[in-house]
Amino acid sequence: MNKGDLPRTILHVDLDAFYCSVEETLQPSLRGKAFVVGGTPEGRGVVASASYAARVYGIHSAMPTAQALRLAPDLIVVSGRHHVYSEQSRKVMAILREKAPLMQQISIDEAFLDVTGVSDSGASIARRLQARILDEYQLPTSWGIASNKLVAKIATEVGKPAGLVQVPPGEEAGFLAPLGVRMLWGVGPKTQERLAEIGVKTIGDLAALHPDLLRQRFGEHGLELASRARGEDERPVVEEHDPRSISAERTFSEDIVDPVEIQQKVLRLSEQVARRLRKEERMGWTVKLKLRWPDFETITRQTKLRQPTDRVPEIFGTALALLDQAWQGGRSIRLIGVGVSDLVEPVRQLELFDRTWEEEERLQEAIDSIRERYGPDAVRRAGGLDAETRAQGTGLEADEPVVD
Ligand SMILES: [Mg+2]
Repeated sequence: MNKGDLPRTILHVDLDAFYCSVEETLQPSLRGKAFVVGGTPEGRGVVASASYAARVYGIHSAMPTAQALRLAPDLIVVSGRHHVYSEQSRKVMAILREKAPLMQQISIDEAFLDVTGVSDSGASIARRLQARILDEYQLPTSWGIASNKLVAKIATEVGKPAGLVQVPPGEEAGFLAPLGVRMLWGVGPKTQERLAEIGVKTIGDLAALHPDLLRQRFGEHGLELASRARGEDERPVVEEHDPRSISAERTFSEDIVDPVEIQQKVLRLSEQVARRLRKEERMGWTVKLKLRWPDFETITRQTKLRQPTDRVPEIFGTALALLDQAWQGGRSIRLIGVGVSDLVEPVRQLELFDRTWEEEERLQEAIDSIRERYGPDAVRRAGGLDAETRAQGTGLEADEPVVD
């Protein structure tokens, strides 16, 4: 990746009123109503999440529930179901992780994605993910797109709820200038007060202060604040864990039963997994296939390989063999997942003198870079083509096993 001096494309996403939004999907009668998820006033509980209708009354999270009820006596108080929220969060984060080369989850409802170098624009990636999360889980999200984390996060805040705010490179300072200093990371109520004493209300005011005055008043922290006020932030998006398994899955908008189509989906998922393995410089010993039927029954099957791989032919071939064992022909499928686990560092030195392998790798790298630039459909591997052609040429009936 030649990230060099190119501006980065950072997306920030936050689920709007997350716990409340999940409750609305479970209890549609709550939609549009002033309600909070939180503890009871008797138990001295606090608001964990407030619906937008409740926020109109000045209710916000971390406020004691008793105080919220004084502001809005008809307020509905729902007690939290955290396992459900975690489960929904996990699903949403899995979608994000699958779509971005680099993803950092910040909390249960918030993440940064670095999509620098991806052919699609940040805004169109964000728009698609926003629509997909709403469509699949009925959960609204807000998105900020900018050249760094600081500005992307503030852009999300500005657009909430259901927002999508993009700040083009070079316009960071201008975007921040009219906003209150309080929106700036690192400015709490005390700093806000001290800034107000010297006439600083907006981020633009802060950016315009003379460095000497800042240093004199706030020390080195003051200079840092000014740099943030100009929209500068070099912090990288860091993958927060070393994944022990890399997988891709797809829930279909309509259940599929056609064996050729199913094979093609397995191929596509295998390609995604192989691409991510290579990008993260991992190989895996175990290939997994996951299938879910329309009644939500879900199975996972796996096979250990003779040697670790990051290549499409092995992953696809193994996944197809697993599909052969697991799929009950004629039964339609709701979700397919392909994964590779037992990850290790690449062990390529074993094959250093294998010329065909070198050619294969060059081919894979070329395909990866073309796809990164032009999207997943820009090129099909010869192996992939063969498999599809084979599948199409077999003339199989829907109820026959599809693996050759
Ligand atoms: Mg949120």
